[in-house]
Amino acid sequence: MREIQEHPILKLARGKEIWIKFSGTPIRAYENETVAMALYREGIDVFTESSKLHRPRGMFCAIGKCSSCMMRVNGIPNVRTCILPAREGMVIEKQDMYGKLPESIEDFPEPCEIYTDIVIVGAGPAGLSAANILKDFNIRVLLVEQNPKLGGQLIKQTHKFFGSENEMAGTRGFEIANILIQNIKDSNINYKTDSTAFGFYPDSTLAIFQNNQLLKVHSKYFFFATGASEKMIPFAGNDVPGVFGAGAAQTMMNVFGIKPGKDILMVGAGNVGLIVSYQLLQAGINVKAVIEAMPKIGGYFVHAAKLRRFGVPILTGTTIKEVMGTKRVEKAISIGLDEEFKEIEGSEKEWNVDTVCLSTGLMPSVNLLSQAGCTLKYVSSLGGYVPIRNRELRTSRETIYVAGDVSGIEEASTAMVEGKIASLAILEKIGYATGREKEKNIEELQRLREGPFSSKIVESLGEVTYE
Ligand SMILES: Cc1cc2nc3c(=O)[nH]c(=O)nc-3n(C[C@H](O)[C@H](O)[C@H](O)COP(=O)(O)OP(=O)(O)OC[C@H]3O[C@@H](n4cnc5c(N)ncnc54)[C@H](O)[C@@H]3O)c2cc1C
Repeated sequence: MREIQEHPILKLARGKEIWIKFSGTPIRAYENETVAMALYREGIDVFTESSKLHRPRGMFCAIGKCSSCMMRVNGIPNVRTCILPAREGMVIEKQDMYGKLPESIEDFPEPCEIYTDIVIVGAGPAGLSAANILKDFNIRVLLVEQNPKLGGQLIKQTHKFFGSENEMAGTRGFEIANILIQNIKDSNINYKTDSTAFGFYPDSTLAIFQNNQLLKVHSKYFFFATGASEKMIPFAGNDVPGVFGAGAAQTMMNVFGIKPGKDILMVGAGNVGLIVSYQLLQAGINVKAVIEAMPKIGGYFVHAAKLRRFGVPILTGTTIKEVMGTKRVEKAISIGLDEEFKEIEGSEKEWNVDTVCLSTGLMPSVNLLSQAGCTLKYVSSLGGYVPIRNRELRTSRETIYVAGDVSGIEEASTAMVEGKIASLAILEKIGYATGREKEKNIEELQRLREGPFSSKIVESLGEVTYE
């Protein structure tokens, strides 16, 4: 009932029809679809309940980074259903927030030990670009990705990229992803999807969970390209199903061909908020307004202009005050802000919407770096805690490198170049001659950061980068 039938850019093909069970009721799903997407497409908004007040909970991030969609699957609790591929006969149940453990774990296979030279965690633009460099050398590379698909956030980006020709400017994000992914598939790189790295132990073992199999990875070098997650902001009713991260709406539409809602209020007019609003319109969804707390639009004016051409109002100096709804968003209230960001009494506006998308910033996914003991520093303009590193993206630990959003929120082109720099630096450490390639990419990164939008980033990077 929520399927997008036609799209101006994407060819939406669904896999073979299969059946899963949710709370005892048979639900249609498609192969290549995740459990959460199948449930949502079939009109199910409430996935679980809060433990004390039994408030309904739905999906929020749709990329495996939060806990909103966790359910009990075939008896196992705390499964992130937004990244779990649906399989014929799966039994899905709601769980309380504590997720009581199963009686027995006899069915789990013995852990599997893997020895490699480099393990890359995360197959977004940063991780894929690194793997694309490393594939041409005689070393063992393991690339792990928690989602069923490789590509990170690129696979849902239908807009054409700006930036540099070297990073495929003028090509749509998902097409860039296809090129990078195909190169990996045609190479000897050992890649694993549906594989979540969840623990970095003091003996430098990286623990990965792939389906029901524990993998213990022993590697000479670790490369974390784990990206970022969307920030939640505090307001009444922010847990009501139908409040999504804007990136989640993008995943639903552009990866799974599903409409996130009928009438949307977008919170945040940075690039992600503006781009996703336009993509919602392309999918035939009504965007009632974009509201932005700051006095100015944060994203590129070219994206804002596209929305204005469709008659979508962009209200600056305005924030979200409350979302109402019992099982799903039924209404949202916005409110004006003065120069000191205080709410202006009497400036409330009511919006008849069934969906509220939050595009209120991204936060680097540094959990594994923190476990590994890498030094982190809080830098607000880079999104939160980020690793201290040198110009080759080596962290405070000799064998641990980073690239992309996990090292500070930027965008996909810089993530790709960082992936190349860090992988070339590792190759040099192993003893391979890479000529001027690394320096060329460092210069390229500087060029990408020359625009006025990057000046704050460049200044902030200075706080966390040592020579
Ligand atoms: C939700 C979201 C929406 C965005 N939308 C836009 C947009 O519309 N337009 C735009 O220009 N930019 C957008 N961006 C920004 C841009 O896409 C990113 O800057 C870019 O993708 C960063 O690349 P990356 O490789 O660092 O991270 P990502 O592309 O996020 O890739 C990181 C990968 O690591 C995987 N991963 C994370 N943790 C683990 C783990 N523990 N184990 C295994 N795998 C793991 C993730 O599943 C993911 O595939 C968005 C970013 C996000 C987070």
